[in-house]
Amino acid sequence: MEVILKIKETKKIIDEWKKQGLSIGLVPTMGCLHQGHLSLIEKAKNECDKVIVSIFVNPLQFGPNEDFSRYPRSLEKDLECCRNFGADLIFIPSLKELLPDENLVYVEVDLLGDNLCGSSRPGHFKGVCTIVAKLFNILTPDKAFFGEKDAQQLAIITRMVKDLNFNLEIIPCPIIREADGLAMSSRNVYLKKDERLAATIISKSLQEARKLLENGERDSLKIKSFLRESIKTKQIADIDYIEIVDLATLQFLDIIDRPVLIAVAVYFSKTRLIDNITYKEV
Ligand code: AMP
Repeated sequence: MEVILKIKETKKIIDEWKKQGLSIGLVPTMGCLHQGHLSLIEKAKNECDKVIVSIFVNPLQFGPNEDFSRYPRSLEKDLECCRNFGADLIFIPSLKELLPDENLVYVEVDLLGDNLCGSSRPGHFKGVCTIVAKLFNILTPDKAFFGEKDAQQLAIITRMVKDLNFNLEIIPCPIIREADGLAMSSRNVYLKKDERLAATIISKSLQEARKLLENGERDSLKIKSFLRESIKTKQIADIDYIEIVDLATLQFLDIIDRPVLIAVAVYFSKTRLIDNITYKEV
C-alpha cells in the first residue's frame, strides 16, 4: 500500500495504472476511520481494480464555530485499517498541497443545498463540493463511493457529477450502524457515556417513524411531530432539524406521495449527529 502526500507523485502512480487499463475506485474521507468507512473500501475493492482512500479534514466544509480544529484524527490506526482492507493508495494531502491559493474558485450548490444540513451549516456543501471536485480531477477515479449516512451530500455530489459532466460514477453505500442502532460516525468519539446511551433514541425514533409509514400514515407534519416527541424523551437531546423531503429533489413535502428521505440532526452537548431513513414504497 502506497501512502502519498503529494499530488504529483500520486498522479504518476495513477497514470501507470491507467496505462495498464486498471479501473480506479475512490473513497474520500476525513479520516478517523470506522466500519462505515471500511464498508465503502470493501465495496470499492469488489468493484474496482485499484482503490484509493483520501484522508483530508476539509476546512472549507466547517463553519467558523464548528469543530475543525478538534475534529478527531487517528492517522496510524487509519493506515492500519486501510492496509487490512486492501486499499492500494492512501492520499493524504496537506492543507498547503490541496489548498495552496487563497483565491479559490468554488463549486456553488443551488436548491439541493438550501435545506437540511445546508441551512444549519451555511457554505458546508460549497466546501464539500469544491474539495470533492478537486479530488475527482486529481485522482480521476472511475467510481467514487459515498455513504447514505450523509444523504444530502450523496444527492448533491451525484448531481454535481451530472451537471458538471465529471466522467465517473457515484456509488451509494448503505449506513453502517453500531449494534444498538446508532449510525457510526467519527464524531461519536466526542459523546460522553450518558450522551452515547441517549443517542440511540435517534435511530429508534426513525425506525418507529418507518412503522407509521408502513401503516399508511402520509402526513409529514404528523410524522415529524412524532419524531420530535420521541427524540425529546431524552432531555439531553437538542434537535437541530427533523425534515421529510422528496428523495429526488430534497424539497419539503407535506403529503408523502413519493419516495422520501426522513433526515434528522440532533445535538448532544456540542456534538451534532445526523441520521436518516428512506421510504420508497408509496
Ligand atoms: P467522513 O469521513 O465523515 O467525511 O465520511 C467519509 C465517507 O464515509 C462519506 O461518504 C460518508 O457518508 C461515509 N460514512 C460515514 N459514516 C458512515 C456510516 N456509518 N455508514 C456508511 N457510510 C458512512
